[in-house]
Amino acid sequence: MFDLVLGTNNANKLIELRLMLPAEHYSLHSLAEIPDSIDVEETGETFSENAALKATEQAKHLGRWVLAEDSGLAVDALRGAPGVYSARYAGRHGDDEANNAKLLSELADVPMEKRTARYHCEVCLSDPEGNVRITAGGVCGGVIRTEPSGSGGFGYDPLFEIREYHKTFAELDLTVKRALSHRSRALRQFLPGLRRLISQP
Ligand code: IMP
Repeated sequence: MFDLVLGTNNANKLIELRLMLPAEHYSLHSLAEIPDSIDVEETGETFSENAALKATEQAKHLGRWVLAEDSGLAVDALRGAPGVYSARYAGRHGDDEANNAKLLSELADVPMEKRTARYHCEVCLSDPEGNVRITAGGVCGGVIRTEPSGSGGFGYDPLFEIREYHKTFAELDLTVKRALSHRSRALRQFLPGLRRLISQP
């Protein structure tokens, strides 16, 4: 059993990460279960830099293996914004409703065919000494709707339409999101390296 701290406080991300890491092989702990975990400041300019910061700083502090991820939305018509600022686009960290409202207003004059966007996710595994051991990334393309739809998911999901399904991530069920999402794609890239590292078949 490999002891692994998941370096996030986001309950939705935890659900998605846990689905990909089978309980028979991994003993997973969220930051909420570890009272002396720290809040790592996301000062990086890229998703990879922030994922590495969150993994290595937390790992050094706790002296444990930490898997961290950084993710966000990049909208073509906004030249990649909100990008690494996705969680705090409208000012307050994690205010999904305000972030979605700001995104809609920034895109108010942009026609449907130019509302293309991509979710990005970068994951990073740090050893207890703070060395980066594995990194991986995943993207998922879609378009930004003109109004929210659906109640599942989190963040920008009510606005993010998967073209093939004509549905937003908030309308699709978690099994579909699990198959398509930037986070699951990053994890699928990441898992073979982790299995090698811990010599698991
Ligand atoms: P982080 O905690 O800095 O990685 O912030 C990620 C932010 O990006 C979230 O607060 C959301 O706004 C957005 N985001 C990342 N992944 C998703 C997703 O799967 N669905 C919806 N929004 C997401």
